[in-house]
Amino acid sequence: MNTTLEEQAIDLGLTWHNRFADLGEAFHTLLRPTPLPSPRWVGTSESVARLLGLDLQWLESDLGAATFTGNLPIAGAQPLASVYSGHQFGHWAGQLGDGRAILLGEVDGPTGLLEVQLKGAGLTPYSRMGDGRAVLRSSIREFLCSEAMHALGIPTSRALGVTGSPAPVRREEIETAAVVTRVAPSFIRFGHFEHFSHSGQHAQLRTLADFVIDHFYPDCRAAPGNAYAALLAAVSERTAEMVAQWQAVGFCHGVMNTDNMSILGLTIDYGPFQFLDAFNPGHICNHSDTGGRYAYNRQPNIAYWNLFALGQALLPLMDDQQQALDALEPYKAHMPAALQRRMNAKLGLTRVQDGDAELTESLMKLMAADAVDFTIFWRRLSHAVTGNLEPVRDMFLQRDAFDTWATRWRERLQVLPGFDAGATSVQMLQTNPRVVLRNHLGEIAIRQARQGNFSELARLQNALEHPFEEVAGQEDLAAFPPDWASQIEISCSS
Ligand code: AMP
Ligand code: MG
Repeated sequence: MNTTLEEQAIDLGLTWHNRFADLGEAFHTLLRPTPLPSPRWVGTSESVARLLGLDLQWLESDLGAATFTGNLPIAGAQPLASVYSGHQFGHWAGQLGDGRAILLGEVDGPTGLLEVQLKGAGLTPYSRMGDGRAVLRSSIREFLCSEAMHALGIPTSRALGVTGSPAPVRREEIETAAVVTRVAPSFIRFGHFEHFSHSGQHAQLRTLADFVIDHFYPDCRAAPGNAYAALLAAVSERTAEMVAQWQAVGFCHGVMNTDNMSILGLTIDYGPFQFLDAFNPGHICNHSDTGGRYAYNRQPNIAYWNLFALGQALLPLMDDQQQALDALEPYKAHMPAALQRRMNAKLGLTRVQDGDAELTESLMKLMAADAVDFTIFWRRLSHAVTGNLEPVRDMFLQRDAFDTWATRWRERLQVLPGFDAGATSVQMLQTNPRVVLRNHLGEIAIRQARQGNFSELARLQNALEHPFEEVAGQEDLAAFPPDWASQIEISCSS
């Protein structure tokens, strides 16, 4: 039986490691993806193919599509679904786990080991009430956003591509199945630690923490004091940096449950996310989030809440609770400092100095009051350093208040040592993107893709891969959202 499977297995010419599989059966269930009929590529990422060392021409073939839909066993890969738990919307949810994502293993690519997961690849023991599938629309969103975030320089899982199948999937209506191939150094979540901690499996908790330290945070071993407290501090630092970048680009994650928080500080599990259109600090992008727990301006505090849950999970590995509290404490200063650094860069201000927080806050207040488009504002401001402030001013109803702010900003720029307007503008144009994955842009590409036409998706993907460039023919992707954009409702249904 095994021999037959081996013979059928397709050899991708890749070197596979299965370090997570080797952790043992407490951590996962070994299983194979469930095939889907007639898969075809909806989109692929050339740069992720290169990261894995895959030949793009082969990848884009029918065999490549079948392979990354989970229809063929892969030589050297040891597919599995991992078990984790987590807090969802502030409540302990108990055991969750990979209900539809199947980890194939780790590919030893040109830049190191990368885990490869097929999301939507069929039922697992952790599927609970779900069907193990993902629909085309949410898979396209995850694919595009992974690559968009990467191009923005924001830590994220990557996506090799999306395949689609005509197989029906029941959501609010009947849709069709898709599989996203996701790639990251590790998909281990805060929820993995919570799982072993809350179920009293403390030996496995230690094994997992040692695994993460050894492979991803080796400095924690050398740090003074408890290595697991050092891990908590290091994860807090990376999480602060990630969330600061979300805030600075106007990204709302939408479902910051602890099972969606990466232990590596990567943006993972793209669901009802949104890039802000008009600036509204209390914006809630997830239609299912009725209480606004994950509103845009709450993300920094929610990240701390999640880190606190991680700290609690790690307590059995520490000498006392104080070690966890001490490890978490720096986040409270690190988060606003990281955000101010990012906001300063957006404003063209290199170093942070007294008064910058106030300058930023007063601007955000004005932008909120006049519901100013977040992305277009920053882009226009970047151009205004060398030229005319009028296009920025036009975005405000309270012109006088904006003028007062702009005068202060210009004075602040002038006192920069060796201030050079041209260089500052260039730096701002590399910081403030022209194109982000606004909901309506994804929606237009999805509507076409559902009809079997992937050209708009490819065009949007291309623009998102170069978000700071001014490319002719992409003006519509950088424009104000149409009126119908605010009517789009994105929920947890995916
Ligand atoms: P999410 O909110 O998408 O991060 O998912 C939360 C949990 O539900 C995870 O354990 C997922 O694997 C699981 N899940 C979500 N959708 C499905 C589905 N269609 N089938 C099986 N499990 C699912
Ligand atoms: Mg999830």
